Amino acid sequence: MKECLTDAFVLDAEDSGEFDRILYLYTRDLGKIIAKAKSSRKITSKLAGHLEPLSLSKVRLVEKNGTQITDAILLRQIENTPAAVKLFQFIKEMTYEFQTDKKLWLTIKKAVEGLKGEKGDYKPLLNILGFSPEFAECGLCKIKKPLFFSPKEQIFFCHSCAFKISPNELILVD
Ligand SMILES: [Zn+2]
Repeated sequence: MKECLTDAFVLDAEDSGEFDRILYLYTRDLGKIIAKAKSSRKITSKLAGHLEPLSLSKVRLVEKNGTQITDAILLRQIENTPAAVKLFQFIKEMTYEFQTDKKLWLTIKKAVEGLKGEKGDYKPLLNILGFSPEFAECGLCKIKKPLFFSPKEQIFFCHSCAFKISPNELILVD
């Protein structure tokens, strides 16, 4: 990649230095990308407001000492709900940089569009990521068809084992 214009979900952002930001993106054309947005925290930056977490934006990525975002236009702001935050965190934890996957992109889009109320629909995402809930068992007690999944540890938990660890980190599969 020398330069790439692509749609991207902004998964997360971290400050870097005085004015820069590190952005975690899931892009249509390149999969997950960790990119720097130079000076984007300056109030005069043309990037400001277009790269907030929970956005869908069109971004221009350039390969220059790592990946840099040189342009960004907000396409859609996703409503800030606990379910949306959890879904974006899930995508950040479960994907790898520069692994283009059009099918996963479409499944993520669908999951974001389907966000409502308290929970997201994780089954299609888990299937495509190779963690099919149908064939899973609890990572601790081996009970079949566990209800929870830990993106951090990438294992399933049944209802009773889930509460032995920290339930906040878990997603509800069903
Ligand atoms: Zn269990």
